[in-house]
Parts: sequence; structure tokens; C-alpha cells
Amino acid sequence: MAHKNIVLHADWIVPIVPANVCLQDHTLVIRENIIDDILPTSQWNPKNYEDQIEEIQLKDKILIPGLINSHTHAAMSLFANYADDVSLKDWLFDYIWPIENRLLSSNFVRDGTELAVAEMLLTGTTCFNDMYFFGEETARACIDAGIRSTIGMTIIDFSSNYGSSAEEYLRKGQIIHDKFKNHPLITTAFAPHAIYSVSESMLSKIAILAEELDVQIHMHINESNPEISKSLEETGNTPLQRLDRLNILTERLMAVHMVETREEDLEVLDSKGVNVVHCPTSNLKLGCGIMPLHKFKERGINICIGTDGSASNNSLNILSEVKLASLLAKGITKNGSILNAFEALEMATINAAKALGLSNQIGSLEKKKYADIVAISVNGIGSSPLFSPENQLVSKGGQNKVTDVWVNGKRLVKNCELVTLDIQSILNKAKLWESIVKETQ
Ligand SMILES: [Zn+2]
Repeated sequence: MAHKNIVLHADWIVPIVPANVCLQDHTLVIRENIIDDILPTSQWNPKNYEDQIEEIQLKDKILIPGLINSHTHAAMSLFANYADDVSLKDWLFDYIWPIENRLLSSNFVRDGTELAVAEMLLTGTTCFNDMYFFGEETARACIDAGIRSTIGMTIIDFSSNYGSSAEEYLRKGQIIHDKFKNHPLITTAFAPHAIYSVSESMLSKIAILAEELDVQIHMHINESNPEISKSLEETGNTPLQRLDRLNILTERLMAVHMVETREEDLEVLDSKGVNVVHCPTSNLKLGCGIMPLHKFKERGINICIGTDGSASNNSLNILSEVKLASLLAKGITKNGSILNAFEALEMATINAAKALGLSNQIGSLEKKKYADIVAISVNGIGSSPLFSPENQLVSKGGQNKVTDVWVNGKRLVKNCELVTLDIQSILNKAKLWESIVKETQ
């Protein structure tokens, strides 16, 4: 059978693995959906390939692995800019949960996910870790668009239009897991919302089921100070002490936020191999604080990065988060060398792949990994002169110009245009939801 090869000739490739490497004038060969080779362009010879070849010249462009957003609520893109200038508790209890109670539906999730996926693809994200309701709709929207995702089996004690009890959410999550477990673009993870919104008995059940199904756990933890004081007041233990007792603290866990972190927390997270997910914009916007990235780094704890949902960001541009995380770490420690550009990019690539249990498949440009690849242009005002491509990626943050994106070998963004999604139809639906939200208020 003839195989299709796509051959990308790039000025620079930042493969992430091996670490601290920027390759100049290299060629990457995609065979079907797999990275088949990376070699100096001077050594490239089309005669070595018998099958069909499509050659693409990527002049003045940097190739990087597809970026991974380690924490979001994709469908909440329809609430971007809905509740600004309020703190976490008011944001959640007075704005987000009430409007969700009124509007949540499979159509809402489908339309919101498409809007989010369009933004993520155009800004270089090829995989995201999601926590929301109607996960089957999220999965189907991702499959239709061609993006990779980990769908949360979301569990919360409160009823919603999606379910009436934590048990019902669990059942629905397991159905999603069974339905998509063999799909090449979809994985699942348990996503209990938080320690204050999911019972201890359910959390300990999740710990057991995660082992049985061999899936990760994705949870908001230590997002703000009141979460810890409430837990201490009600139980005499911190959230992490309770989660440890419930066997949630393992290498499977992606602990999202971790703004409030004590020395003893770092010790237990380190010893249990827990992954942390830094969401700097969301934490700043909701007045929660700043995760002490340097303390996790000192211990060698695996740090990933997420945008959180659009309602608390209000963007899904992961390179913006990488830039902000890098600057915050330097400012807080008064040490400009605390995190170099490669380490900053690792948070949105290989570290995230490790946390999702996918490090043998994605997260770096290496032979035999899936061809999830992003091309970024460094041609133009603001990009010249160019001494360090990797630093340019981090310091330009959200202003980087993503020109092309491949996921699983398929080109989903071509010359800055979406290939699989109809942008006008997505925008029309977003406008429609905007008017529905305004009428519902
Ligand atoms: Zn969140």
C-alpha cells in the first residue's frame, strides 16, 4: 500500500526532546500520522522515499510540538467576558453556576467547544485536557475538528441539566470512557471538580476506579485560601491531607492551581509524584494569587500549564500563559534565570504529555511519535533580529503567529486558516448564544 509522506523543510525545529536544542535548517518527515524522520535538510533525498511526497517549505518558521493545554473547560468559551472584575467565590456562585443552570445543554457544549477548538488550533494547541458537562458532545466536536483531547469524566455533588447526583455523573462518565477508549484522538480522565464540591466517599471511589480503568485524575486543588480554611474548619485537615488519605495523591493526579502551597504540601506532592497545572491568568483574574512555580521546580515536580476556561481567562492562547508564567516566576524570585525558554515550553509540551500519560505518543518532535506539529512564523516586524528562536517563542507569547498546524498527521490549519472548521458558522452561533445569555440575565 502506498503511504503518503509530508515533508516539512523548516528554518528551525525546537523538538523539546532532546532538551535545550534548537535545530537549524532541518527537515521533518511525516509518514501517515507518525513522525518518520528528522534530519538536516542538506541530507534530505527524495529518492529515499518510494511513496507519494508532498514537500512544504517553511521559510522563516519554527516548528514545535503541538501545544497542550493542561486545564480548560472548553465550552465555557461562550462565557468569555461574561463575568469580569469579580473574585472567585462571587464569580462561581453568583455568575457562572446560575447561568449554567439555565443554559447548559448538549447544543451549548457542542457550540462552545467548536468556538474553543477554533481558537486553540489557531494559537497552536493540538491537545487539551477538559473538565465539563456533556463530555460526549465535547469528544464528538473534537473528533469532527480533528483535535486531540482528554475528556473529563466530570463529577460534582450539585445537580445540573446534565445530571442529578454525583453517582449519575460517574455513570455518564464511564459511558464516555467505554465509547471512546479506542479512538485515536480521545482519552478520558476522572475530573472531580474540587474538594468542596465532591464528597470524600466519591473521591475514594474515583481513586479506585482510576486504577481499574488506567486513567488520570484532573481536579482543582488549593485554588484559593478560603478553600483551605473551610476544609480546616470543617474537618481539621487541609485539602491535601484529606486527598492523601483518600489515595488521590498519585502520579495519575493533575492538581490544578496549587496557588496556596505550604512546605508540607510540596513534600507530599513530591513524594507521591503528583503533577501540578499552573493557570496564571485565571488565578490573577479571580484574585486568587500566584502559584509559586519556583518551589515546585526546585523539587523537580512535573509542572504543566493551562488556560482554565475562557470565562476566567478570557483567552485560550497557551503561549500567552507560557509567557506570563515565565515572567511571574522571574519577578517573584527576583531571578531572571529561574526558568529558561526551553523549560517554559516544556510545560506546554512534554510535561503535559507526561501528566496525561501520553508521553510516548505526543509532547515532542521525535521519531515514532504522532505528528502533532505547529509552525510559527518569525518573519516580520517584532521578530527581527532573531538570535534565539526558543526565546522568541516565549517572549512573544500570544503574539506569535501560528501559520500551520498538524494533528495526527492531518493539516488542520493551513496558512493561518482553519481547514476543518467553518469559522463563519462558529461566529454566528457565538452571536446567537451571546443574545441568549443577555436575555437570560
Ligand atoms: Zn478550572
